[in-house]
Amino acid sequence: MQNIAILGATGSIGRSALCVIANHPDRYRVGALAAGSDARALAAAAIAAGPEAVAIADASREGELRDLLAAGGWRGEILSGPQAAGRLAADSRFDTVIHAIVGAAGVGPAFAAAAAGKRLLLANKESVVCGGSLLMNTVARCGAALLPVDSEHNAIFQCLHASGEGGRQAARIWLTCSGGPFHARPEVDLAKVGPEQALAHPTWKMGRKISIDSATLMNKGLEVIEAHHLFDFPADRISVVIHPQSVVHSMVEFADGAVVAELGTADMKLPIAYCLAYPERIAGDVKRLDITRMGPLTFSAPDTERFPQLAMAFEAIRAGAAAPIILNGANEIAVQEFLDGRIGFTAIAELCRRTLERLHPAEPGSLEDILAIDAEARRTALALAAGL
Ligand code: NAD
Ligand code: MG
Repeated sequence: MQNIAILGATGSIGRSALCVIANHPDRYRVGALAAGSDARALAAAAIAAGPEAVAIADASREGELRDLLAAGGWRGEILSGPQAAGRLAADSRFDTVIHAIVGAAGVGPAFAAAAAGKRLLLANKESVVCGGSLLMNTVARCGAALLPVDSEHNAIFQCLHASGEGGRQAARIWLTCSGGPFHARPEVDLAKVGPEQALAHPTWKMGRKISIDSATLMNKGLEVIEAHHLFDFPADRISVVIHPQSVVHSMVEFADGAVVAELGTADMKLPIAYCLAYPERIAGDVKRLDITRMGPLTFSAPDTERFPQLAMAFEAIRAGAAAPIILNGANEIAVQEFLDGRIGFTAIAELCRRTLERLHPAEPGSLEDILAIDAEARRTALALAAGL
């Protein structure tokens, strides 16, 4: 029986994880739930799943959470504040951590789970982008197991695993990318696009931040950096390919020229269930892929002129360990500014570019360094946004 802490339990991935676990009560139990500020959703999830502990990052919502939980008859430990999710990640009562917090707020909890030697099911790509080799070294040194939930990386993990010894002879990673709502529509003037249009993802239902990242292709850029670290793979052997149907979740090309792909419907319950059960497989309630009805699958090169953040991610890898942290921090600020209506869609990339040009910090050597670079990138991006 795995006792599981779910960080980001009220979000899109967190809710999918709760669904998968609820279908397998003989194998998994929910030990802890953490969320950012939505006390109502967190209380409802806790009353349904019955964890031992809950945590809310926004301490001003603790009273509301406490009242809701008491009204629902739940009794257990309540933690609050920005460090609370990290404390649950490190807590020895929980052997598995599903990390589905959004953004760089997830960096500390990822390091905490890795340092505690946990089985870490990682959806929070921003912690790999920012943590880089420091995070991967912590995973290895502390005997943690990092299982990628992000669908592309989960697919690559499956392709490598299915290839056995041959997995060592991978020559190229092909990351598939739906293209978001705009890649296939060159007639759309991106400068005039608003949040509702950008949030309308054609194939995946996700949280707001990753949906905007998918529209700018920053999501794929972050995933290139993520793949570079997770699979210890050089950037020049990682390719992005536009595949609007989202059926092929990614591919690995081997030394002999063979390409192995993982296919499935666009449902995050699939990679979550794979990571939970790995190296076994469990029955899932995801819709099956109907091979004879799925229609044609198409693949094409991405347009990095219209979507410059994808190219910025490749450049950030070459620039060293600080640049991905700056790119990620600036992007988080830019996405929020766009969602709040203060900047336009194309200004998201512009703000990232200007922040990268402005800052040249020393390479990070610790978690504290990473958090300091992230904070500086955010401050700089906010100041630059005011002048856009
Ligand atoms: P979401 O916005 O739906 O949910 C985010 C969750 O994080 C919420 O539960 C929120 O309360 C919590 N949270 C926010 N700030 C927090 C903080 N400071 N401390 C603790 N909890 C906090 O986001 P999502 O779409 O579920 O994405 C979560 C992560 O998974 C992101 O890193 C995203 O890139 C990644 N991911 C998501 C999908 C997807 O299909 N949604 C796919 C692949 C990867
Ligand atoms: Mg993905």
